[in-house]
Amino acid sequence: MTESKLRIGVIYPEVLGTYGDTGNGDVLRERAQRRGIDAETLMVSLSDHIPADLDIYVLGGGEDTAQALAAGRMRGDRGLFRAAGSARPILAICASLQVLGRSYTDAEGREVEGLGLLDVVTMPRGSRAIGELVAAPLIPGLSELLTGFENHGGGTSLGADAQPLGRVLSGVGNGALSEQDDEVHYEGAVQGSIIGTYLHGPALVRNPQLADFLIAAAIGVDPAELPVLEVPFVQRLRRERLLATGVERLLATGVEGDSNE
Ligand code: GLN
Repeated sequence: MTESKLRIGVIYPEVLGTYGDTGNGDVLRERAQRRGIDAETLMVSLSDHIPADLDIYVLGGGEDTAQALAAGRMRGDRGLFRAAGSARPILAICASLQVLGRSYTDAEGREVEGLGLLDVVTMPRGSRAIGELVAAPLIPGLSELLTGFENHGGGTSLGADAQPLGRVLSGVGNGALSEQDDEVHYEGAVQGSIIGTYLHGPALVRNPQLADFLIAAAIGVDPAELPVLEVPFVQRLRRERLLATGVERLLATGVEGDSNE
């Protein structure tokens, strides 16, 4: 954290904010404040320069046209490149996961250059992935099942520099064409301080552990060092959404994850 206040940037909310994704900024601020950490959200609009020195960046989903506009502006603005270069935590949802990749091809077959901050490439899947998505986390520091809602036409393949965020238990996730015959499907991409995911929800409402992971990274502590913060409504929401996918059965068959929920 560069100043005494945790500054959370919500990037291009007017074009990158489907399914309430801009709420991810509110969750981060609220979870920080409830622990006595002074925090604020800053809306960085398309007409603004993206500051390179914010403590956490959240970027949401978007329709193809809005997404292409955002990609062009972001490429021309060095702010996010510099933020990633200094390992600032960045959460990129759906369209933003695609935009932060090397390139993506939209539903009309237009290839759009990405920022190349994530070693991923996105191509049309041929059908939209729509519905609940549940994944078992694969990165150190996360143990609880990841839950969210997905709605995307693109399928994302990971290169050697990116790791998947999770293994899909229900839903499609990255849904790359090369994955289709494999038994294991993956969700999201992690590279350095960037987490990309197809989880809407907003993701951080449904996945408080992921929110705390970002806060801990921003203030330079281990997530386990943050005081426990239980929000009963969130626990009920998670349970409801996980039950709705039938993932309860998967838990019973020994998949690691929300054993404490
Ligand atoms: N337009 C992209 C796709 O359909 C991303 C959609 C989204 O962000 N929900 O793949």
